[in-house]
Amino acid sequence: MFRDRAALESHQERQIRKHLRWVALHSPATARRFQRAGLTLGRWRDLPPTGKAEMMANFDTLNTAGLRLSEALRVARQAEDSRDFTPTLAGTRGPVTVGLSTGTSGNQGVFVASRAERVQWAGVVLRHLLPDWPLGLLRGHRIAFFLRAEGGLYRTVQSRALDFRFFDLLRPVQELAAQLTEYAPTVLVGPPSVLRAVAQAGAKAAPQRVVSVAEVLEDAERDLLTRKFGPLVQVYQATEGLLALPCPHGHLHLNEAHVHFDWEPLGGGYVRPIVTDFRRTTQPIIRHRLDDVLLLGNPCSCGLASRRVERIAGRQDDALLLPGPSGSVTVWPDFLRGALGRVPLLQEYQLQQTGPESLRLALQPLQSGVAEQAVQELRRALTRTGVSVNTLKIDVQPWTAPAPGVKRRRVQRLFRGEPQ
Ligand SMILES: [Zn+2]
Repeated sequence: MFRDRAALESHQERQIRKHLRWVALHSPATARRFQRAGLTLGRWRDLPPTGKAEMMANFDTLNTAGLRLSEALRVARQAEDSRDFTPTLAGTRGPVTVGLSTGTSGNQGVFVASRAERVQWAGVVLRHLLPDWPLGLLRGHRIAFFLRAEGGLYRTVQSRALDFRFFDLLRPVQELAAQLTEYAPTVLVGPPSVLRAVAQAGAKAAPQRVVSVAEVLEDAERDLLTRKFGPLVQVYQATEGLLALPCPHGHLHLNEAHVHFDWEPLGGGYVRPIVTDFRRTTQPIIRHRLDDVLLLGNPCSCGLASRRVERIAGRQDDALLLPGPSGSVTVWPDFLRGALGRVPLLQEYQLQQTGPESLRLALQPLQSGVAEQAVQELRRALTRTGVSVNTLKIDVQPWTAPAPGVKRRRVQRLFRGEPQ
């Protein structure tokens, strides 16, 4: 909880140097990155960033617990299929839990953590989730987690005062709604699309705090969840780390006490983070480029030194690439969500780019008026970003709900080629 920026930055530098000395000794892949770049550990800021594909390709020599990727994938996939998340891998320094990151097929990441890392992570999360921390640790809470995979959090920090319940996203929504009402949580955690579906299926709960995770939170959804359940905050948690947490004023701040952020500018004020997590030792995350696109905010009145995140705008590989008069134009999901969010009566939608000049727009309800307005808003927004809309094909279809457990992406680029 640093309040002084200079103190925070010198804390980061100190911690990272100490961390890197250990990691370079135990993670051959990390040591090799520094050697290849011709850099000493002290010049870590200059290290060329890495990404998920490279991390998976070097997994066996990157992790410091002697784990092999094939074995980690086998255990993780088995846990997802059986919905039993208790099996662990035997690491050289003790048992290690393993999880899969979502991601397009073939690009799935494996993330491993030791018990010590999980306890530390759970401690940081609780400190920010409990509305009355630290007293809440004694007073007690019932914490409902709606998650795709359970990941061992509640087994890690279960105590007499804190009760955690895992609501499996693969269960029918009516059943989840009934269970949630019966559980009467004091803290409710989950992806916003799921919490909304559960609310619409009749769940009644009045938690002291609602916590939105794992998906982009849209303004309309924030309002709806606040009305249905109660005050809402956001946590930005990726498999790569715990990246941002709410402050006492309810705003999202980067977790800079544990993670260093560097930024790649993407234009229009959007940035892409390069993270160095100076707490993670089992699977070091050093100068790791994320696929997320963020907008940073103005300083917050809470006085914290960590930077504020205005919004998480989505994933970079979901940005549409459409033709403009002089080359391709990048259109951010955030911008299109804003445009479609203005269509009255539109309840659900998904916009996908299916070809160099073709879009699929799925709508609910699909009735005249709604469809015309949605297409009109979309064309107007694309025109404003400089897309040549005249040759664009927009195929309008009825919306269908995504399969249970699938992370919602309202704007998505399926087409991977270059625009013409
Ligand atoms: Zn703040």
